[in-house]
Formats: sequence, C-alpha cells, structure tokens
Amino acid sequence: MNSKTPYTGRFAPSPSGPLHFGSLVCALGSYLDALAHGGHWLVRMEDLDPPREEPGAAARILKTLESHGLHWHGAVEWQSKRHAHYEEILSQLRQRELLYACYCSRSQIRQNGGHNNLVCRTRDAEDKNDGACALRLNCAGGEERFEDIWRGTKIQSVHEDTILKRRDGLYAYQLAVVVDDIAQGITHIVRGADLLDTTAAQIRLFHLLGSEAPIFGHLPLVMGPGGMQKLSKQNHAPAIDDSKAASNLCTALDFLGFHIADGLEQEAPEHILKWAAARWQRHQVDKRDRQLH
Ligand code: GLU
Repeated sequence: MNSKTPYTGRFAPSPSGPLHFGSLVCALGSYLDALAHGGHWLVRMEDLDPPREEPGAAARILKTLESHGLHWHGAVEWQSKRHAHYEEILSQLRQRELLYACYCSRSQIRQNGGHNNLVCRTRDAEDKNDGACALRLNCAGGEERFEDIWRGTKIQSVHEDTILKRRDGLYAYQLAVVVDDIAQGITHIVRGADLLDTTAAQIRLFHLLGSEAPIFGHLPLVMGPGGMQKLSKQNHAPAIDDSKAASNLCTALDFLGFHIADGLEQEAPEHILKWAAARWQRHQVDKRDRQLH
C-alpha cells in the first residue's frame, strides 16, 4: 500500500461518533494542504477500539466526507484489518529488547515523576495477556525537536514510555498510527492541535522503526459552548448535517482564515473545494483555538 508521492497526507478519524465541526475542519485542512501541494489525500479509519465505537459511525463519516466533496485517493485503510502488522512490529521490538511488560498504574507513574519503574523496565516483554500488564516501549527519555507547520519549533520531552499494547489487549493508538503512517508513505500529518502533545512520542517511534518522521502541522481547535473545551462527542457536539455541505464548507473555510467570496455558498462542494485549494496559504490559517462565529 505504499504510495510515495512528494506529498501524501491523510485524514484518520476514529469512528467513536459522526463527524462534528471540529473534525470537518481537520479533514478540510489536511485535504487542502495536500491538494495545494499536488499531493494525495488518504483516509484511514482508526477503528482500533471497538468498545468506544458507535455502530454505523464509520460508514456515516465516509458518507459525510463524500457529500462534502472530500474524495480520497485509493481505498480506505481500516486499522481493524491490520492487527497482524501491529503484532509483527511488536515482535520486532521485543526481539530488540525495546518492549517490556508494565504493571504500573497511571498514578504510580505520575508519582515516579512520569517514569516507569525500573522493575518493569527490566522485565521481559512476554505478552501475558493477563489483563494486568500493558506493553510499553522503552523510549529512552530525552526530547524530540520538530518544526510544526503552524506551531513553529517545538521541543517536547519523551518522558513516559509509550504504551503500544493496552492491558485490555487492544493495540494502542500510538503504535497503530505510526505503523500505518509508515506503511502508507505519509509525508505530511495535518491534524487537530489536541494531538500536538503526542507528537514527540510518535517521532521517537518513527525513528526506532527506521523511518524518517513526516512533517507535522497542528490546526486550531473548534471550541465548544463557553470556549473552554474543544468540540467533541463528550460535550455533545452536533453531527455535521450532510444536506448543508456547501454552507458547512464555507463555515469551516472561514474558521481556517479564508475570506469567502460572495455567492460561494451557492456552489457545489467540489467547486468550493477547488476554489479553496487554489487559494490555500498556510500562513493565512488563524492558529487560535476558538468558537465558530
Ligand atoms: N484517530 C485520531 C483521532 O480521531 C487521529 C489520529 C491522527 O490524526 O494522528 O483523534
């Protein structure tokens, strides 16, 4: 599935609910950045966590993207079909002694100043699947420095060893996201600023897996009522109404810093996207997290 072009971007929703305005802004920002750079734009369904998924959400997300003219390149990749790849990477890391079985709770790690206790670190990584231990990557601490398209130079510490397989036996987001970004040849990751803090740990994993990290760009978050929290399923963000695609796109474009031309809302989604891709300028994106107006 490697599709190396000079630019391969992606949108990687988790099907825990339908798309809301915040996720539409991310989809649109990653789509426009890819198209404006002559790139491919892929869609990957991050259906890794069945207990948190809403039945029908994945199909609804894809329908929303299509009805907004956000057509992806190639076939959708489904993480639920990639367990064998994740297991293979875990076994490689285990052979390299980079993985260990950890019984620490979150609060123990916090008490330990964000570090895992040495007893765990020196334990082998036999996957006991006993519901009590997670598999962690020995990240070796330190920090990662990267240039974010919108956030500038970031230096983040890699203070906690990343969980790659959860104690409930599910593959962790951090493992799957990096393994798949490598496999799909992703060169640019444009996503919401809520994931900014996960970036250093991901870069570390890219490097440990022998890959160059992609370029990251973290878009502003759409905040919910009161402006304190980002829109999310947890704070009952309304689902995108597919029958209002043109107006939704114009609202999302306005949020991203576009001055919407008169009459644009009356056009078809494909026309609106073409108009926007021709005018996309990274420096015009308003980086502040804020509510829609
Ligand atoms: N699946 C993640 C989410 O919906 C996004 C992963 C990513 O873009 O890196 O929050």
